[in-house]
Amino acid sequence: MYADLKMLIDGVWTEGTGARREAVLNPANEQVLGDLPVAERADLDRALAAAGAAQAGWAATLPKERCRILRGAADILRGQNEDIARAMTMEQGKTLAEARMEAAVGADILEWYAEEGKRSYGRVIPPSNPIVLQQMMVKEPVGPVAAFTPWNFPVVTPARKIGAALAAGCTLIIKPSEETPAGALAIARALMEMGLPKGVLNMVFGVPAEISEHLIASDVIKKISFTGSIPVGKLLTRMAADSMKRVTMELGGHGPVIVFDDVDVEQAAAMAVAGKFRNAGQVCVSPTRFFVQEKSYGDFVDTFAAKAKALKIGDGLEDGVQMGPLANARRVDAIDGLVRDAVERGAKLKTGGERIGNSGYFYAPTVLADVPDHAKVMNDEPFGPVAPIVSFKTFDEAVHQANRLPFGLAGYAFTNSAETSARIGAALQTGLVGLNSFTISMPETPFGGVKESGYGSEGGIEGLDAYLATKFITQAGAV
Ligand code: NAD
Repeated sequence: MYADLKMLIDGVWTEGTGARREAVLNPANEQVLGDLPVAERADLDRALAAAGAAQAGWAATLPKERCRILRGAADILRGQNEDIARAMTMEQGKTLAEARMEAAVGADILEWYAEEGKRSYGRVIPPSNPIVLQQMMVKEPVGPVAAFTPWNFPVVTPARKIGAALAAGCTLIIKPSEETPAGALAIARALMEMGLPKGVLNMVFGVPAEISEHLIASDVIKKISFTGSIPVGKLLTRMAADSMKRVTMELGGHGPVIVFDDVDVEQAAAMAVAGKFRNAGQVCVSPTRFFVQEKSYGDFVDTFAAKAKALKIGDGLEDGVQMGPLANARRVDAIDGLVRDAVERGAKLKTGGERIGNSGYFYAPTVLADVPDHAKVMNDEPFGPVAPIVSFKTFDEAVHQANRLPFGLAGYAFTNSAETSARIGAALQTGLVGLNSFTISMPETPFGGVKESGYGSEGGIEGLDAYLATKFITQAGAV
């Protein structure tokens, strides 16, 4: 059993009004797992009407009650961890160990927002004008949200948007990825089981452009939250601007990793390989450009390549597999193109550089050394299992390389010098910085980029704030 593929509109699980369906594939063997209903305009209109009608009641629901529902859903998801993880591995390809971890973190995110929703405090501001009796700032839910999530984290990304929006008192319509619907559906089922009122959460699937165009143009929707590629993020932001809707954009990056030569090469390479090939590199904060100081460079490249080559690749459901297939055929073609381009431009292929097998979207963990700046892989987000490594001499040169691109999501540095660590943390133009660590995303911490990687944060108190509007109320004496 994979998942019951339906949409949730106005509290009803439905196949929608149309006949269109989209197949969900297992990327490990290209077999069809199920058929997903595709929303027609009439279905979207029902979801809009439901989210609009439920908004006032949900905003007025006590934070304590919203907390009860979200916490209860988190517990339900914990009880279903194994089933959710298996479905995720089948539809997305990541290893079962990674999927179990992600399903657990999804529950933790709902629980964190369940609690934090009780703390959307305002402020009482002492007046400077003597006729004013009281002035205060209060936070109110922004209103119905349209949210769009991609295929690489089928539980965590929907959990961030659903958890924060519901905790803040917003209703929402979410369109999870059609390629990986099971995790978001599990979250929706858990919330409905806890008694979430109808219309508060609506979940639709279909043709992404059709859905985003219709929802973003609607007067009902007051906020857009999108996670995905930069071109699509720009398109949705432009559409949102027509009616001045606020947006949160979590877009791609091209994460630099700067390895200074005062660190243990073996340990740094082991951490880098684990970070790089997690979810086969299909992670928006994936380390994607490695800059290694010249004294350690040769050792680092050899150690990294040996460890990458030793990874066990296969169906993520199999025991001991350390990297599964890529999520779809598009990624295999994209990665192969980037590797060929780099080699043509003079990069040295240390390992990988080829597809594996005849079925499934497998690609060997790939390491490229001495990659020239103008190679595409040094400029376009790779989103796959390829690690380009180049050497640098000075701190300034490394910073220049790291900040050279228009992206600014995650950046990493490895050093044992407190001074270098503080300086590089300040110098990296990214929204997230990992110093001697690749772990930069937790339920309680803000997550988001700068430059073309988007704006706004998810996670932490910033993530809740994204769904709240600030209202100032001033009150003067009797008139
Ligand atoms: P894509 O640009 O076609 O799609 C990215 C996501 O946006 C998908 O989930 C898709 O359903 C959605 N989307 C596409 N067009 C849309 C529209 N008009 N309205 C609403 N949603 C829309 O690319 P892809 O092949 O799925 O992924 C390729 C690239 O996307 C990757 O190279 C990576 O850069 C980026 N990506 C980023 C993230 C992230 O976490 N930031 C996740 C997945 C993909």
